[in-house]
Amino acid sequence: MSLKISGIEFSHGSTPILKGIDIEVERGTFVALLGPNGAGKSTLAKILARIYEPARGSVRVGLRDLLGLKRQEHARVVAYVPQSAEVPFELTVAESVMLGRTPYIGLRPTAKDHAIVDAAIGRLGLGEFRERRLSQLSGGQAQRVLIARALAQEPEILLLDEPTSALDLRYQVETMQLIRDLTASEGVTALIAIHDLNMAAAYCDKIVLLAEGQVALDGPTSVLDAEVLSQVYGLDVEVIWREGYCEIRPASMRRLEELDCELSDLLEFA
Ligand code: ADP
Ligand code: MG
Repeated sequence: MSLKISGIEFSHGSTPILKGIDIEVERGTFVALLGPNGAGKSTLAKILARIYEPARGSVRVGLRDLLGLKRQEHARVVAYVPQSAEVPFELTVAESVMLGRTPYIGLRPTAKDHAIVDAAIGRLGLGEFRERRLSQLSGGQAQRVLIARALAQEPEILLLDEPTSALDLRYQVETMQLIRDLTASEGVTALIAIHDLNMAAAYCDKIVLLAEGQVALDGPTSVLDAEVLSQVYGLDVEVIWREGYCEIRPASMRRLEELDCELSDLLEFA
């Protein structure tokens, strides 16, 4: 379903954190929520997850008022993968993923619930760990369990707060590809808070850059603008477009050619 976030304002005490957020997302879009530490990404995700209640504003999913839904109905619409999870450590992987079925389960899980859990475990490459306790997993494996649990929830909207931060390169790529597939072929709308601007540019359809509780950029990847990024991150940033993909890097990062050059200078004197 399409997602329409309008005029969201939120404060912690007297400190305004979100100052009027407007974002519109078509169904099946993969959205990157970018912005420096403290920009308000997690706060916005928590509002959509109904952990925080905004002072003003509304969120519509299709024709429904997301913030007014009954809790169980909300849990069928939105799945949320938190930035750092308080995972129930004594549960096994399979039990943890089954928690994603909570909004659907009557008295006990059905064969369908088990099949959905198995599919989610398979998609996240967790088959060999299914009977392991979460306390016996690495940080990245536990992070994949949280994503599997969110998939088992079969949401219309998938919120992921830095889900790739503990993942090695292969699983970062696989996770981004998996979310891409979910959005493109299953019509799920995904919002991912992520720090890796290049991953976001490579996999996401839409960029929303938050800065100090406001939207600084919003649009397709092509809106990524060196001047705005430099200002928002407080660092000289270059955006280099090459044959349809873009590379974003600090301007001060030394180029390989420069390093090669220095190396050959050194060798000459050696
Ligand atoms: P991001 O996820 O973009 O790094 P957050 O949404 O976590 O940013 O935080 C936005 C701002 O809210 C930050 O300035 C942070 O310090 C502040 N903040 C977060 N949680 C609290 C809290 N419980 N009380 C007061 N301020 C908070
Ligand atoms: Mg955060």
